[in-house]
Amino acid sequence: MKIHEYQARDLLAQAGIPVPPSVVIESSLLAEEAFIKATKGMASPLAVIKAQVHAGGRGKAGFVKLVKTAPEARAAAEFMLTNKMVSVQTGPEGLVVKKLLVAAGVDIASEYYLAITTDRATRRNVLIASKEGGVDIEIVAHERPEAIIKEPLHPTLGLQSFAARKVAYELGFTGKLANQTADIMQKLAKLFVEKDCSLAEINPLVLTGKPSTTNCPNASSPLPNASLPTASLLAIDAKFNFDDNGLFRHPDLQAMADPTEENPAELRAHAAGLSYIALDGNIGCLVNGAGLAMATMDIIKLHGGTPANFLDVGGGATEEAVTEAFKIILSDQSVKGILVNIFGGIMRCDIIAQGVVNAAKTYKNPDGSTGFKVPLVVRLEGTNVEAGRKILSEAKSLVPTLQAATDLTDAAKKVCNAVGK
Ligand code: GDP
Ligand code: MN
Repeated sequence: MKIHEYQARDLLAQAGIPVPPSVVIESSLLAEEAFIKATKGMASPLAVIKAQVHAGGRGKAGFVKLVKTAPEARAAAEFMLTNKMVSVQTGPEGLVVKKLLVAAGVDIASEYYLAITTDRATRRNVLIASKEGGVDIEIVAHERPEAIIKEPLHPTLGLQSFAARKVAYELGFTGKLANQTADIMQKLAKLFVEKDCSLAEINPLVLTGKPSTTNCPNASSPLPNASLPTASLLAIDAKFNFDDNGLFRHPDLQAMADPTEENPAELRAHAAGLSYIALDGNIGCLVNGAGLAMATMDIIKLHGGTPANFLDVGGGATEEAVTEAFKIILSDQSVKGILVNIFGGIMRCDIIAQGVVNAAKTYKNPDGSTGFKVPLVVRLEGTNVEAGRKILSEAKSLVPTLQAATDLTDAAKKVCNAVGK
């Protein structure tokens, strides 16, 4: 599960990591007021307006804007809420922006990267840090991997003080700043474990240039603090990903889910107990078992086709779930053919067949007619296969596009031919 930056900032602030004060708005009419609130107490007001979407690369896409006046804030907000954001992470269709963060702007001397994630190779959680943080971190990681520091966490003790300080020195910090950096790293590492994260990232963590009036440990209290040192550290962007399997332990995180940011077909599948991932091809797949689903996608590729989705109906799917699975696949307008590949073990072939027939009976085409128009290739094998084949052959008039396949290769060839590949 992903969350928005403003929610990530709240988690950081609760953990005691310094974050600039900010306000979330959903209408550009509130931008001027938000600007005044976020910049309260600043000698020369500066705010940053940031699109809140579950995708990064916002800075380069023009959806992180620095503004110095309230009218500028409103113009930036207006732009972001009325244009789709297209970044390297969104795909060409872009994302609609519904929420904005208006945060106190920071005078930046340098930008650092900090993250905790799991390194599968070493089977350890790892701190990743770089003194070249900011919008080009992916390029740095790719072209100069030596600029990325990796420090494994202790399996039970987490990020220990000496390890955190070592990395802080490697980042070039000394004295109080080294202590402060190490403290932030340890707090981030603790959050990572406590919240069952798969990623906890601050990018950038910034060293401020001038005395800052925005260094508030608590994001919700934008009061200036005159006693701050001339340079201090602030987290100005954060990203958290959570392990879905750990969410049941975290009602606070569950409450942060934003369904409007998720793929609607994936949400619908999740509600029906199906594992579904939308892809960009034109062959819909309905398969039981994750391994068989992967193999089915591979063999479609091998024969020149492209899968439109990954869909695992699982072992215990009901007729209703299978029917729903068909509706979800068909709701994707780019689907030009469907391959049903079932190896009946716990899943019975007759249940799948009945699901196909029910879906054909109830599916409404855009022109109002009932039944499948797209070519459908079915390969059934295993438990109750004869009963399943019988159900399908008896319902031939309902599914006139149906072709039976003898094995996986035959099925893949048939569906690829049917979509013209
Ligand atoms: P991202 O592009 O989606 O990762 O969005 P970020 O929040 O990381 O912002 C991108 C870049 O905008 C940062 O790396 C900074 O260089 C710049 N930026 C963001 N907030 C501020 C700010 O308060 N002051 C200044 N000077 N630059 C900022
Ligand atoms: Mn960032």
